Amino acid sequence: MLKQISNWLRERRVARVLVTEEQWAKAEAALPILSRWSSEERTRLRQLAIEFIAEKQWSSANGLVLTPQIQLIIALQACLLVFNLGLDWYRGWSGIIVYPGDFAIPRRIVDEVGVVHEYDDPALGEAWQGGPVIISWFDGADCPQDVNPVIHEFAHKLDMLNGSSDGMPPLHSDMSRRTWCDAFGRAYAELQRQLDLGEDTAIDPYAAEEPAEFFAVASEAFFDAPAMLATTYPDVFNQLCIFYRQNPLEPVPAEL
Ligand SMILES: [Zn+2]
Repeated sequence: MLKQISNWLRERRVARVLVTEEQWAKAEAALPILSRWSSEERTRLRQLAIEFIAEKQWSSANGLVLTPQIQLIIALQACLLVFNLGLDWYRGWSGIIVYPGDFAIPRRIVDEVGVVHEYDDPALGEAWQGGPVIISWFDGADCPQDVNPVIHEFAHKLDMLNGSSDGMPPLHSDMSRRTWCDAFGRAYAELQRQLDLGEDTAIDPYAAEEPAEFFAVASEAFFDAPAMLATTYPDVFNQLCIFYRQNPLEPVPAEL
């Protein structure tokens, strides 16, 4: 009975999300990755995005007006990650807070001798364990190059599904932790080595901060620059294909 009521409430929330064809077309045009998708796949992605918008609690900050267009573009990207996993992978939290442009997170730390340091940490987004996702919204060209704060933060959310953010989301039963660690460990070490030598890196050097950031940045590349990731870190690319159950280099994101 309880399940029936919750399904009914869910359907009511979903029915309230009304999107015109024009709004869909405009949102999808902002996401070049979808250009290779068939209309069937897009329809399924749209359905996921509607459910995602209905299920989450949306708010904005710092004067940003949260338009349906912004919600759609964020929801479509969030649903790209779970396209073949299911929305259940975003369980356990509900808030999405959208800020204009980059923002600063007020931090407060106490050092070893007990002195309190307060400072503003510039950020493009943040995901809290069991808490909201915070996303910076950039209008088109304003977004820093080669950075996708939406994919990045939602990748962190998947990573946190099995505890703290450590670069290893819950792997599927047909995956090997050792193979995952080998692939990501080698790529991470290689990136560190390049940075130590002052070399240019193919992916955002922020990935070298910690394994969790490597996973989030690699996920950005997986969806936004898959050919680059497949060339630079083929083993990481293969692991992400298996994890996300899709191959972004295929004509359509067929389930693996
Ligand atoms: Zn991050």
